Amino acid sequence: MKAGIKVKFWGVRGSIPTPGIKYVKYGGNTSCVELLLPDEQLFIFDAGTGIRELGNSFCNREKQLKAHIFLSHFHWDHIQGLPFFMPSYIKGNEIVILGMETQEVKLDKILSNQMESIYSPVKLQSLSADIKFHVLSEGNAVIDGVNIDTVFTNHPGQSMGYVVTYGKTKICYFTDNEILPAWVTEDNKLKYRLDCRDKILCLTKGADLLIHDAQYTEEEYKSRVGWGHSSICEVLRLAK
Ligand SMILES: [Zn+2]
Repeated sequence: MKAGIKVKFWGVRGSIPTPGIKYVKYGGNTSCVELLLPDEQLFIFDAGTGIRELGNSFCNREKQLKAHIFLSHFHWDHIQGLPFFMPSYIKGNEIVILGMETQEVKLDKILSNQMESIYSPVKLQSLSADIKFHVLSEGNAVIDGVNIDTVFTNHPGQSMGYVVTYGKTKICYFTDNEILPAWVTEDNKLKYRLDCRDKILCLTKGADLLIHDAQYTEEEYKSRVGWGHSSICEVLRLAK
């Protein structure tokens, strides 16, 4: 990346972690991407199991840590690493968790629910770091001095994509999202957000880095319409 901007992929799997010799090339952890900006802003995208190793990499520093964790949505593969993010156990650290919420369940509740005692020995409320929640909707926000654009994507239960603009550098994170080929949108039986592709195109124009879900080949996608993931070809068309 441009000088002083670091991007590291700590987890790129979907659905479930995949340990084993077959998966060592890209790793077996679920979604987590680190973006470290020159002014030491630490932005983390998704809290799949990859966030555990990311957190461990910051545990030996003497300075207190401030981190912003942007969640795309709350399917397990995007939040299941959060209880194992060691910086949240260290007093003095500041962790801000950002994402959408629903009318029925608020953001803090969505995440504390997965750490209730029936699921986890440690409750979210008992973590030693200062944990804050920041609810986002579609639009624009300035987070830690950095411009963030957000857009809802096509995924079961809804998901949110992020565009980070730092100076003249633009980094885009879109997973999970189903980019729709024309033959799918004709009757729109599945009630997709039909304006989603255009919104993403507009926001990602001139991007330095586009990170996008590309789960299927075109052939595989035909039997997985509505599952909320894109074919490689559609992502390449979007990126052109
Ligand atoms: Zn999902």
